[in-house]
Amino acid sequence: MTQRQTDIAIIGAGPQALTLVTHILQKKDKLRSRIQVFDPSGTWMTRWHQQFAAQEIPQLRSPAVHHPDPNPHALRTFAEGRYHELHPPYDRPGTQLFQEFCATVIHRWQLQDYVTPAKVIRLQPLRGKPSRFRLSLDTGDTVLARRVVLATGGGQPHIPEWVHQVESTYPAERLCHAGQVRLPALPSLRGETVLIVGSGLTSGHLAAGAVQRGAQVVMMARRTFQEKLFDADPGWLGPKYLKGFHAEPDMQTRWQMVQQARNGGSLSPEMMTHLRRLERQGRSRYTSTARWPMLSGKGRPGKSAAITTRCIIAWLTNPFTASGWLQAPPWIFRPIPYWRMCCSNTLSTPSTGYRYWMSTCAGRAVNCF
Ligand SMILES: Cc1cc2nc3c(=O)[nH]c(=O)nc-3n(C[C@H](O)[C@H](O)[C@H](O)COP(=O)(O)OP(=O)(O)OC[C@H]3O[C@@H](n4cnc5c(N)ncnc54)[C@H](O)[C@@H]3O)c2cc1C
Repeated sequence: MTQRQTDIAIIGAGPQALTLVTHILQKKDKLRSRIQVFDPSGTWMTRWHQQFAAQEIPQLRSPAVHHPDPNPHALRTFAEGRYHELHPPYDRPGTQLFQEFCATVIHRWQLQDYVTPAKVIRLQPLRGKPSRFRLSLDTGDTVLARRVVLATGGGQPHIPEWVHQVESTYPAERLCHAGQVRLPALPSLRGETVLIVGSGLTSGHLAAGAVQRGAQVVMMARRTFQEKLFDADPGWLGPKYLKGFHAEPDMQTRWQMVQQARNGGSLSPEMMTHLRRLERQGRSRYTSTARWPMLSGKGRPGKSAAITTRCIIAWLTNPFTASGWLQAPPWIFRPIPYWRMCCSNTLSTPSTGYRYWMSTCAGRAVNCF
């Protein structure tokens, strides 16, 4: 068991962490040896790539300027000769193009071997030294850090109460969360009815994938499906809302601003068009969560019930709720002096883009030294 020291510890190696690191290095390359990134995968963006592959997502929802390189034009330059892989509106990159671009970013910033393959299982402030944290890794090692950035991803699976009330036994893959579904691994679903609960873009991708495999799909949501280009108002991509956001020093207030602006999940116009087409063809339909009781397994389903052979819960909740930090990952030992620890989501804006806020964030990190 070893104990190491670092100035900035970043937990997670997704796009947020990669963006933060490139921005910091652009401002001060000398900090390279003073940052450590931890992720069980030992590589960058593993979860991102897995999610896109699992749901067979052909292109990003976010425009071409949103990527992990500090140069906003870098992706468009990289796409030279491949402009057909930038999709309207706003040149949204194809999944393959984005993946290859990110690989070049990692290479150009010499970050190939930068991620320590370890999961952080405990984070606690050092007693008597409020400006230090101890990170315990699943390898048995510990790391002392001056600053910690949580870049562990946004959503936690939300399992509705009625799932726990299902009395009969069932095969695990028949009632599962969207995060467990791997479309490419699914067999033909011909003759099956798949119920998808949730109204974000993930539910749309899964519905399209299930119909493609021959299933009949019922989509269920607690509110009407929202059709929006992005989850948040595009004003969050520029000074219109960002000025006020950056001026707000309190991380919890920022978090609430993010939640308010996100206002739950939505479906892109492109996906809505596709789903409407499937509905006209009689291959999918919508229903409301008011019909939940029929899923409890108690009694017989009513007349209006969806008789389903598979159910996918496409629903995420955020680890940090409106009530503040109370639902932070259980491995965070409280009380933590929050002013020395930040969550990449709290620094970020509600938009899906990383660029606009990262330079501010990196500036702050650099100014700490
Ligand atoms: C289906 C889908 C499509 C999406 N499409 C888009 C899009 O088109 N454009 C867009 O901008 N966004 C999109 N998003 C959102 C995007 O995935 C997230 O905004 C982005 O991945 C968040 O990046 P992140 O780095 O915070 O988290 P993640 O990508 O989730 O990475 C978090 C990392 O933290 C690691 N980690 C977690 N816990 C620990 C721990 N205890 N110790 C060490 N490491 C840990 C995980 O292993 C993971 O690798 C999409 C999301 C989904 C689900």
